Amino acid sequence: MKLIDAATREPNFRSLPSIDQLLRTETISMLLPIIGVKHLTQLARTVVDSLRAEIGHGKLADSNLLSLAAKRLFDAWESESKTGLRRVINATGVVIHTNLGRAPLSVQAKNAVENAAGYCTLEYDIETGRRGGRGQRAESLIAELTGAEAAVIVNNCAAAAFLVLSVLASGGEVLVSRGELVEIGGDFRIPDVLIQSGAALREVGTTNRTKLADYEKAFNENTRMILRVHPSNYRIVGFTSIPTISELSNLAHKHGTMLFEDIGSGALVDLSQYGLTDEPVVSDSIRDGADIVAFSGDKLLGGPQSGIIAGRRELIDKIRKHPLYRVLRVDKLAYAALEATLESYRRGTAIADTPVLKMLGMTKDEVGMRTAKFVEALGSNLRFEITDGQSAVGGGAAPLVQPETVLLALSHETLSANEIGAMLRKATPPVIARIEDNKVLLDLRTVCEDEETELLKILANIN
Ligand SMILES: *Cc1c(COP(=O)(O)O)cnc(C)c1O
Repeated sequence: MKLIDAATREPNFRSLPSIDQLLRTETISMLLPIIGVKHLTQLARTVVDSLRAEIGHGKLADSNLLSLAAKRLFDAWESESKTGLRRVINATGVVIHTNLGRAPLSVQAKNAVENAAGYCTLEYDIETGRRGGRGQRAESLIAELTGAEAAVIVNNCAAAAFLVLSVLASGGEVLVSRGELVEIGGDFRIPDVLIQSGAALREVGTTNRTKLADYEKAFNENTRMILRVHPSNYRIVGFTSIPTISELSNLAHKHGTMLFEDIGSGALVDLSQYGLTDEPVVSDSIRDGADIVAFSGDKLLGGPQSGIIAGRRELIDKIRKHPLYRVLRVDKLAYAALEATLESYRRGTAIADTPVLKMLGMTKDEVGMRTAKFVEALGSNLRFEITDGQSAVGGGAAPLVQPETVLLALSHETLSANEIGAMLRKATPPVIARIEDNKVLLDLRTVCEDEETELLKILANIN
């Protein structure tokens, strides 16, 4: 029905509320201290403009436009306020979920972040009252835990690899096996990183097999290093072979060059008891002769986003002095979280403290027992079923390892799985689940125990 003024036969804009009227409504005036007058006025203008356009097109019935406008403004604010970073419950069973912030921090690391958030001794030496070394504690913990002479920390492993290649190989050639010219995801491609660093890529061997002799043949006076890349998120299986780290290291040294290993995930402790048998342990690489290694802080290590470079002191010093290091360095919050995470490793309590390790270490029976207890408390119209399934390590680590788990499969008489999934995502906090075969699957492996009560409440609200 068009709002037509009987006399003029024109659309009637007189019922349109003014911005001022809208801001003075009860609902919207409550938002004022939260949003601030400037942005609130902006939102109000957008809402009133769209109402005006709708009247012009004859799309609005003669209703209470003021309350309609207030409702739209409130909804606009609400959906906008949901777009920032929010805590979520990860019920996907993917432990290192890149889209959900990779490694959840330990309690110790969270406390350390809070502690460092104000003024802290980032570059200050309490003893002397003078300027102190940035990141020294985290670096010395890394050195101690990996057996490396020294370490330096940057923004992520991609930055670490780029920095190492830029400082130590720019203008020269880098030997890489054709089986290791991989894309790690998020556009991190080894050949592209090499081009950007100013080093030339010299491909060696074949996709599935690269022999020591292939590297040997490729050496020339421009060769600066051998680069070994852990293929992280994919595996070549079958007729394959690559030289060991010590073979590569000996060869590199024989030619007066070095071996750089991009380990990617990098475990600080042996995780083979969790089935993670082909993720390199950093200290093994250092022991076997890698001159420099790079790995992520927020993959299997279970700390904050960071890229850790460890290796020979002389090389680390060169890296630290390069102007690019200043560009790629991390902030105090990352150091704080990393220090606390590394201290857990040194205490020998990493497996109990670090959520990533705790979750990976959970057996199928343990997840099963938690799930059985969980459904006892589940009061809702949802139908559920407990089934066997698999979790995932995620974060581009150990793609072939899928820990056996127990899943809670939810369905509903009238709601589809996608509809339930959307309702879970709209909850506070949002719950992220897997959807398969028109069922919503929850894997409690990645749900912290103290989130269970919250999750039960959210499920009870789905009717
Ligand atoms: C994950 C990964 C990277 C990138 O690490 P970010 O910390 O995400 O930057 C680089 N190299 C390898 C081998 C990886 O697995």
